[in-house]
Amino acid sequence: MDNDFELTIIQVIKKYGLLENKKHSKSLGQHFLCDNSLLDKIVSCALPFGNSTLVEIGPGPCGLTRSIIKFAKGNEIICIEKDESLKPVHENIKRNTVADIKFIYGDALKIKLKDLTDKKITIISNLPYNVGTKILLNWLYDLNKINQMVLMFQKEVAERIYAKEGTKDYGRLSVISQLLCDVEKCFDVSRLAFIPPPKVESTVIKLIPKADRPFDIRNLERLTAICFQHRRKTIFSILKKIYPDIISKVLNACAIDPLSRPENISPQKFWELSETMTKLFI
Ligand code: SAM
Repeated sequence: MDNDFELTIIQVIKKYGLLENKKHSKSLGQHFLCDNSLLDKIVSCALPFGNSTLVEIGPGPCGLTRSIIKFAKGNEIICIEKDESLKPVHENIKRNTVADIKFIYGDALKIKLKDLTDKKITIISNLPYNVGTKILLNWLYDLNKINQMVLMFQKEVAERIYAKEGTKDYGRLSVISQLLCDVEKCFDVSRLAFIPPPKVESTVIKLIPKADRPFDIRNLERLTAICFQHRRKTIFSILKKIYPDIISKVLNACAIDPLSRPENISPQKFWELSETMTKLFI
């Protein structure tokens, strides 16, 4: 039988001997989803696709890819996979579909979205745990290319991305993600849905770039790095050491209570703080 669409993902894993080299698959974060209804549910979160290009990082044995193909209506699909030994699996998919699909082999951390296509991009991915946050941060600097992202992360990482101020998970990643994107939790996924099961639970989230997002957040990044190193201290005591002359004036101008802690300051207020400080230094 040479059409892998007729096989289950478990059969594909067996057919190509995937996951047999445990060290290799572990280093690449290879935990594969096999339940078609769950895979369809993930892809449905990104509907409608419009005419965007659909990008998947780490297709692996193509469970999620098959669902993407199922829902695509002529959309171009680009899959980026680091593990070249999966080529035969991907060749089979390409041979047996009329979808406009391309597989690129390389490290998603090194690939620039603008080099993939002229169109806007919808990213749908079950990201490898070890590089998920880094990949997201790269994309947050490349939002002009992105229509939306539906991404699966380790649950704890997802919680940090969508955490609201005043909660224990709120931090730098929450401020930056939520300032630039509308972030929504879609649903949790049990560790038992994967082969092999990882040690942790997972969560699917959706990020849509905000139309009125700031352009240059480098100063905000520096500010949040300083502030969240001392999340239990007040904002006044953290910043007074670095900006003794201006801090009272700045906090006042931004209507931020000097006794607030970083974890209680919203992304928008952090942005105002960063902008006001930048202007005072110019
Ligand atoms: N999409 C499949 C699924 O949902 O079952 C597999 C997801 S698995 C968690 C992560 C996939 O990403 C693996 O196929 C792995 O080889 C690939 N991968 C790991 N690091 C990568 C990187 N830096 N760039 C591109 N792909 C990577």
